[in-house]
Amino acid sequence: MPELPEVQTTVNGLNKKVLNCTFVDVWSDWEKIIKKPVSFEQFKKEIKNQKIKKIWRRAKNIIVDLQAAPALSAVEGYSLLIHQKMTGHLLVGKWKVESKKWIPEDKKSPLNDPYNRFLHVIFFLDNGQMIALSDARKFAKIELWKTEELLNSKEFKNLGPEPLEKSFTFNKFKKVFENKKGRVKQAIMDPAVIAGIGNIYASEALWAAKIHPEKNVAKLSEKELKSLYQAIQKVLTLGVKLGGESFSDYRKPDGTKGDFDSERRVYKREGQKCARCGEKIKRIKVAQRSAFFCPHCQSLDVAQGKKI
Ligand SMILES: [Zn+2]
Repeated sequence: MPELPEVQTTVNGLNKKVLNCTFVDVWSDWEKIIKKPVSFEQFKKEIKNQKIKKIWRRAKNIIVDLQAAPALSAVEGYSLLIHQKMTGHLLVGKWKVESKKWIPEDKKSPLNDPYNRFLHVIFFLDNGQMIALSDARKFAKIELWKTEELLNSKEFKNLGPEPLEKSFTFNKFKKVFENKKGRVKQAIMDPAVIAGIGNIYASEALWAAKIHPEKNVAKLSEKELKSLYQAIQKVLTLGVKLGGESFSDYRKPDGTKGDFDSERRVYKREGQKCARCGEKIKRIKVAQRSAFFCPHCQSLDVAQGKKI
């Protein structure tokens, strides 16, 4: 699933390519992806003639702030919310229909990668470009909100702080863990605690900080908290810089792969050697999700045992 670095990479790519473009039409063969308004026809009508004014990210959500055409300028501001969920990713390019299928106009383009072929929603822009959602499992969601309502929605208000924002100091990081119990991996993946961290970057950050994924978050020392704080910022920053992880479905808006894979130390590496000590990487389940770690570098304190 795209996490903070992948979503940010998508936002950065869209900002370069489609800012100030206007929606002229939208197509879908899986209208259920559009959750708000429920009627696809209504969605189509409302998105038409809306200009893309700003594209940003909050947690794993992509937000496209819109501005109505001048004639409609009295209309309230709308925002498009896109959550790529499990296998969704947004692409920018040009496609045409051939044998009832959408094919990239340039057949040699990276948009031909099989992972980019599950097109279920296409937005047509006034400059001839298109924004397409490729989503193998069709879990992604697209919603059209009144901007004010989105910003004040329960969903948004319950989100934890953004880990890469300057205002997210070590003191703030410590505060989000105050009175928290449970396993550290689960805690850092909770969007109400910190926004944007999923399975890949949680495993990678814990390895970098040398903390066992099952360690009780209430028992982390000041030193461990500091290491974790730094590790989270380090892996996420590197993830953004390298354009995200494309081990699975994720692709950048131009259809190419992100380069974080060269930095992947533990995620889906069970049985392989730890880059730091040579011990074999293990995989366990933490709250129904796989956790990957080095049993040597990330040992659970004997005193703490398994009582967590
Ligand atoms: Zn190790």
